[in-house]
Amino acid sequence: MRDDNCLFCKIIGGEIPSSKVYEDEYVFAFRDINPQAPVHVLVVPKEHIPCADAVDAANSVYVAKCFEAIAKIAKAEGLDKGYRVINNCGEYGGQSVQHLHFHLVGGVKLSEKIL
Ligand code: 5GP
Ligand code: ZN
Repeated sequence: MRDDNCLFCKIIGGEIPSSKVYEDEYVFAFRDINPQAPVHVLVVPKEHIPCADAVDAANSVYVAKCFEAIAKIAKAEGLDKGYRVINNCGEYGGQSVQHLHFHLVGGVKLSEKIL
């Protein structure tokens, strides 16, 4: 299911251009328009899941497939020394696009940690 008003649904559908790095039946991944590190890829389920809070037994396969994709993309991008995966959820979590996505960030030793 897609949401016609959703930016990431439009990117998945090709109506808004993006720099695609990976795609399969469940997942679409593309470079963040405002990268915070040398590698900053957004890994997005093809299903319009609004946020982590909306994950349930019926759609969690998309989350698993996102993490399978993350492992593949990290290898393809040469992130052999490690990387960080970030999900922002909701207003207090700083989510700005209401379609579940994982930031895959790496290519440099990351310093800022909140946990
Ligand atoms: P959030 O703040 O919701 O966790 O992350 C949204 C991300 O989407 C931000 O890092 C932002 O730079 C990225 N973004 C917003 N609009 C676009 C766009 O049109 N294209 C791409 N490639 N990234 C976008
Ligand atoms: Zn969407």
